[in-house]
Amino acid sequence: MIRTLQDHGIHRGIDVHMECTVLKLLTDDGRVVGAFGYDRERGRFRLFRARAVVLATGGIGRAYKITSNSWEYTGDGQALAYDAGADLIDMEFVQFHPTGMVWPPSVRGILVTEGVRGEGGVLRNKDGRRFMFDDIPDLYKNQTADNEEEGWRYTQGDRNARRPPELLTRDHVARCIVREVREGRGSPHGGVYLDISWIKARLPNGEEHIKKKLPSMYHQFKELAGIDITREAMEIGPTTHYIMGGIRVDGDSQMSTLPGLFAAGECAAGLHGANRLGGNSLSDLLVFGKRAGEHAAQFAKRQAPGKIDEAVLEATVRAALAPFERGAGGEGPYKVQHDLQDMMQELVGIVRNDAEMKRALEGLAALRRRTAQAGVAGNREYNPGWHTAMDLNNLLTCSEAVTRSALERKESRGGHFREDYPSKDPASGGLNIACRKGPDGEMQIRREPIPEMRAELKGIIEENG
Ligand SMILES: Cc1cc2nc3c(=O)[nH]c(=O)nc-3n(C[C@H](O)[C@H](O)[C@H](O)COP(=O)(O)OP(=O)(O)OC[C@H]3O[C@@H](n4cnc5c(N)ncnc54)[C@H](O)[C@@H]3O)c2cc1C
Repeated sequence: MIRTLQDHGIHRGIDVHMECTVLKLLTDDGRVVGAFGYDRERGRFRLFRARAVVLATGGIGRAYKITSNSWEYTGDGQALAYDAGADLIDMEFVQFHPTGMVWPPSVRGILVTEGVRGEGGVLRNKDGRRFMFDDIPDLYKNQTADNEEEGWRYTQGDRNARRPPELLTRDHVARCIVREVREGRGSPHGGVYLDISWIKARLPNGEEHIKKKLPSMYHQFKELAGIDITREAMEIGPTTHYIMGGIRVDGDSQMSTLPGLFAAGECAAGLHGANRLGGNSLSDLLVFGKRAGEHAAQFAKRQAPGKIDEAVLEATVRAALAPFERGAGGEGPYKVQHDLQDMMQELVGIVRNDAEMKRALEGLAALRRRTAQAGVAGNREYNPGWHTAMDLNNLLTCSEAVTRSALERKESRGGHFREDYPSKDPASGGLNIACRKGPDGEMQIRREPIPEMRAELKGIIEENG
C-alpha cells in the first residue's frame, strides 16, 4: 500500500524525500512554520519551510521489549508535537495484541494474525486446558460460547453460534495469557500454546485447509521457528501493537492544538477511544488522512510564510551532533534503549499498578540522564547507532506520557488495565487525560472532559441506531 501510494504521489508531482527523519518542528508566533531533520544516508541536515505540517509517523511500540511494530515506531510524531507545544491525550491506552511469536528470541513479538483463532485455533496452557473458558467477562457472557462445540461451529460460519472465548477483546485475551504465565502454567518460553493443528480431527482435509487459509502464518512459523503449524501448536504471548492515544486533533480538520500542525493515523488520538477494533486502522488512515491533507492545504493557503529562528536550528544541530562529541567513551544508545524497553514492559505493561509505575518514573529520569551521556563512534553516513541516540529522546517522552497518564487514570478501561483499580469508573469515562509541556519544561497532566459531540453527528448516530 505504501509503495502504491508513493508511486501515485510521484505521478501527481509530489516530492518524496526518502530516508529523511524529522528532528524538530519549527514554530513562529504560535504556529508551525516548518520542520528540520536529516537524511539518514548522508547524515546531512535538511530544512523544510512549510505553512502547514501533517504528521503521520505511526506508533510507539519500540518503547517496549516485545512489540509487533517495526524499528520506525519510536513515537517521533507524538514527541515532536509535544515539544512544539501541542497536546497529547490518552497516552495510557496502549493495545497489547494477545498473539505474538515468543520463540526464538530473534522473532519475539512478530504478529500472529487473529485469523488463526478465527479459523478455529485454540489457546491452551501447559496442562492442555482451554483456559479462556475460565474467565468470560459478564458483559460478554451472552455473546460468547460456553462450550467447545459451539465455539467450533462459530468459526465454521454457523450464524446461530456464539464466538469462542479466544475471540474476546484483545486486551482481555492478553491479560488471561499473562495470568497463565504468571501462575506457572505457561509454555517453556514464557507464552501459551495456540493450536490450529487440532482442526484435522474435525476436517478431513485439515492440513490443506490450514495451508490454504493461513498461508503466511504457515510460512512464518516454518521459516522463522522451524514449526509446522499443521502438526504442532505455536508458542505465543502478548505483543505491544498499537497506541490509541496520541496527538489531540480536531475531529473534522485533524488540526492539533498547535495551529498549522495536523496529524493523522496512529500518531493522532481520539478516533478509537480506549481500544481499537482489529482492521480499523486502515480505514482511519484513508478517511482522516484525506481530511488532514485537505484541511492542511486550506490552512496553508491562508498563511504567509513564517520566520525560521536560526538559534533554534543551531541548538537542534548541536544536540543532534552531541553523541559524536562524546564518542565511544559515552554509553552505547542501544544499551539505554534496551533498558528502557525492559522497564516499560515490566512496570507499565499489560497489568499496571501505582507502585510499579512510580518506580518507572524514577527509572525514566535515570534513563534521561544516561541518554544525555550516550555516545556514538563512526561518521554521519547511515549510522544506526546515531539514529538510535536521537530516537531515544522521543521514546522517553512517549514513555513518560504513557506512565504519567496511566497513573492519572485510576480505573481499568480498554487497553489500560490497573490491578489496583480493576473496574471501570463511570466518572472517568467522560474524561481525556491530557499531557502538555509546561513553561518549565515539565510534563503537565490534566483530566479534561471529552468535548461534546456536535448535534448533527449525534443525530446521524441516533438515526442509524
Ligand atoms: C504487524 C501489524 C499488523 C497490522 N495489521 C493491521 C490490519 O490488518 N488492519 C489494520 O487496520 N491495521 C493493522 N495494523 C495497524 C496499522 O498497520 C497501523 O496502525 C498503520 O499502518 C499506521 O499507519 P500510519 O500512516 O499512521 O503510520 P505508518 O504507516 O507506520 O507510517 C509512519 C511513517 O512515518 C515515518 N516516520 C516515523 N518517524 C519519522 C520522522 N521522525 N521523520 C520522518 N518520517 C518518520 C516512518 O518511517 C513511516 O514511513 C497492523 C500493525 C502491525 C504492526
